Amino acid sequence: MTAQDTRRISLYVHVPFCETKCPYCDFNTYARIESLMPSYIKALVAEIRLWGQLLSKPTVHTVFLGGGTPSYLPAEDIETVMSAVQDAFELESGAEVTMEANPGDFDAGKLKQYLAAGVNRLSIGVQSFDDDLLQKLGRRHSAQGAIDAYRMAIDAGFENVSIDLMYGLPYQSPEQWESTLDALSNLNPPHVSMYCLTLEGGTPMERWVKSGQMPEPDPDLAADMYLAAQERMKAQGYRHYEISNWAGVGMESRHNLTYWRNQPYIGVGPGAHSYLPGYRFFNLKSPRDYIDIMQATVDHSSEAGTKEIIQKMPVVETIEDIDKDLEMAETMMMGLRLDTGIEVRDFNERFGGPPSAYYGETLDELASLGLLMSEDGCLRLTHRGRMMGNQVFSRFF
Ligand code: SF4
Repeated sequence: MTAQDTRRISLYVHVPFCETKCPYCDFNTYARIESLMPSYIKALVAEIRLWGQLLSKPTVHTVFLGGGTPSYLPAEDIETVMSAVQDAFELESGAEVTMEANPGDFDAGKLKQYLAAGVNRLSIGVQSFDDDLLQKLGRRHSAQGAIDAYRMAIDAGFENVSIDLMYGLPYQSPEQWESTLDALSNLNPPHVSMYCLTLEGGTPMERWVKSGQMPEPDPDLAADMYLAAQERMKAQGYRHYEISNWAGVGMESRHNLTYWRNQPYIGVGPGAHSYLPGYRFFNLKSPRDYIDIMQATVDHSSEAGTKEIIQKMPVVETIEDIDKDLEMAETMMMGLRLDTGIEVRDFNERFGGPPSAYYGETLDELASLGLLMSEDGCLRLTHRGRMMGNQVFSRFF
């Protein structure tokens, strides 16, 4: 167990509902289970309350309502969940509260309710500003619908809105990507995430590609698209603060920084994972089982150690022990994703020695290959290191 404690955490709230299932998506989300929504919200509130009790009402500094599609829920459910969060935890003043939303799911009235419930950041799943590609991705909205949704969020008073895009898609041409980047530039959102499509096993899209029904995504083209995005975002004045994320000044996702800094968080809802010092653990995946089990209440004691507390949560299915070596390796891997990299002093405080004490040879070798640099008390990836992130990260395990 390291020096971190559980008094200040982040909270992830999983919403497993989607109106339709996108063919590339392997998240723990489902279409056509809307009838479960009311009982699901009750179960979620019960889990939130229980965590608040078991951890003796810790401070929460970021909340992320993700999924799934939180905006697919009635806005009243978001109010119910947020009020449970405020009762069960000390929600830090100025806490970042993000909600994922799909264009077409919300209107001005719903946006007002989100704001009143305490949501102050919206992450809109746009994916592309090309109608043809949106259709091939199985998305329900049009490019114009996404633009309208973004403007509506800004007009409603959201100051921090993020747009998610995807590249490296089957059928996607460099010209299509350029015009998506043009549309993005016109909107100039405070935050942008761009993810390269990964063909996940068991998804319809993977099957279509395997059977030749759909062309295989071209990794070289995807790398060119990433480079084009990097140049464009730099010219627009964004900070490329994480491999797949860009932000205007002060608009970084504080919730995601928790993950990249390998800091503690609790995930609630089916399939949600959590990390408390020394342990990573996972809730069971089935929304139906989750609802059934959360009907039950559990006995708890504030004297219990971290593992005993986790074991008292009836929906936790798997607990992994995280020893110091693994925690250090994960801290290196996640931290090097950030443009600020790893602060040697922080690492030293957390693990009782600087990175060079544990990874001296590896760090020297990565530096000699031009993949890593040491600057202002921080270790960072070079531009080349970012392009070869996965090869660099594997060296710490
Ligand atoms: S809307 Fe998002 S979470 Fe739902 S199926 Fe599509 S990609 Fe997956």
